[in-house]
Amino acid sequence: MEIDRDECVGCGRCIPYCPVGAITMEGDVSRVDLDECVECGNCRRSADCPTDAIYQQELVYPRTVRSLMSDVLTIAEESQISGRGTEEMKTNEVTGRFRLGEAGVAIEVGRPCLGARLYDVEKIAQAVAKIGVTFEPQNPVTSMMADTSTGKFKEDLLNEKVLSAIIEFSVKLEQLPRVFELLRDVAGKIETVFSLDLATKIAPDGSVPTDPYVAQAGLRVAPNGKTNVGLGRPLFEGRSGR
Ligand code: SF4
Ligand code: SF4
Repeated sequence: MEIDRDECVGCGRCIPYCPVGAITMEGDVSRVDLDECVECGNCRRSADCPTDAIYQQELVYPRTVRSLMSDVLTIAEESQISGRGTEEMKTNEVTGRFRLGEAGVAIEVGRPCLGARLYDVEKIAQAVAKIGVTFEPQNPVTSMMADTSTGKFKEDLLNEKVLSAIIEFSVKLEQLPRVFELLRDVAGKIETVFSLDLATKIAPDGSVPTDPYVAQAGLRVAPNGKTNVGLGRPLFEGRSGR
């Protein structure tokens, strides 16, 4: 995003709307630090600039991934998918992606608040790739990898900054301790933060199969549930008992 210096009147209204602090005053006008800007579009959409000085410059690959991963209104031309991850993980009761005995794992890199360079997302992907995970093919982050077996990203994307990027895969429940161990180790080697999401099918007795693993690792759970009524595809047909 850029600001037209001739139009800007320096009111400063746009500054607090930037989630990564990329807008600062420079003399009497404001400017965007393009290296830090994640192209989320928030300043242009929400700040109600009195002179309409904020404008979207032409985005050329690889910068386009900033917008794709940071602005929920941007749709990827290749996949026609918007957003940072896949909806599927949140609707497991209708998609059936994760079975009993499995856990869906999403690592939200850059959340909360900081944003992330893709070289840090790569470090995390490479760490968990050591246990042979299959990264979710529908996820835009997976399409940024040059090698999905190692988690290696395409070289030209590594310095791009995004609001957040979600790495997705599923594992057997008994692999969770190793996943936690690898994430703890790589957490000290990156410049940003991440949140860890676990999705699981509730056991017939009502218990949450991932809970004992999380407790054993000394992690704190913030339970989150979603109920979808009449949505989704009936992928569970013919698969009962799995
Ligand atoms: S809101 Fe518009 S006029 Fe005010 S500082 Fe930002 S760009 Fe300049
Ligand atoms: S597009 Fe987003 S990141 Fe870039 S300056 Fe505007 S609010 Fe900040």
